[in-house]
Parts: sequence; structure tokens; C-alpha cells
Amino acid sequence: MARNSALRGSRIGSGPMGESVRGDLIERVAVTFWCANGHATRPQFAVTAVVPDVWDCQGCGQPAGQDRDNPPPAATVEPYKTHLAYVRERRDDADAEFLLGEALAKLRATY
Ligand SMILES: [Zn+2]
Repeated sequence: MARNSALRGSRIGSGPMGESVRGDLIERVAVTFWCANGHATRPQFAVTAVVPDVWDCQGCGQPAGQDRDNPPPAATVEPYKTHLAYVRERRDDADAEFLLGEALAKLRATY
């Protein structure tokens, strides 16, 4: 195990002293990420950590990148569609008329 292990001093019961020791042992670097909405998010990383290209914006949850002028595109979210909206994609009005007539005929035959 390397001397600079992130786990060092993090065991349960290390107490308040452990907190400060841990803070001294691991150098951290704050990296600013920008989202398409202009929010800045500054997570901190251990200097030994690999900083990811994209981070979730704390303001709006969109992906954020390190280039302020060129943030990653906003994630496209599939809009919520009702059951009726899906049915309307598959069937046109003529289909609907036909199916309604069929269903009504079946109903009338039953009662
Ligand atoms: Zn944002």
C-alpha cells in the first residue's frame, strides 16, 4: 500500500485528530467545471486522482467541463410522454375510428 493512500487515517474511530492529519497528508486541488448554463462547480480532487473530463453541475445537474467557453452539450432528456401520446404515434384518426367502432360493436353485442 502506498504511503499516500487515500484510506490512511480514514478508519472509523480515528477521531478529530484523524481529520486534521488526513487533511495534511493528502493534498487536494479544486477544479472548476462549467456547464452550458454558466454555472461553476468546484469539486476537490486528491492530487493523485485522475480528474474526469466531465462533472455533473451542482446547479442544474447538466454535464460540466473544464473549458468555460466550450462546455459539454446539455444532456438530451427524453420528454415524458403519456400513454395516449405513444398510441397517437402508432395510430392515426382513421385507425382510431375503426377501433372505436369495433369496440362499440363488441360492447353492444355483449349487452
Ligand atoms: Zn449548471
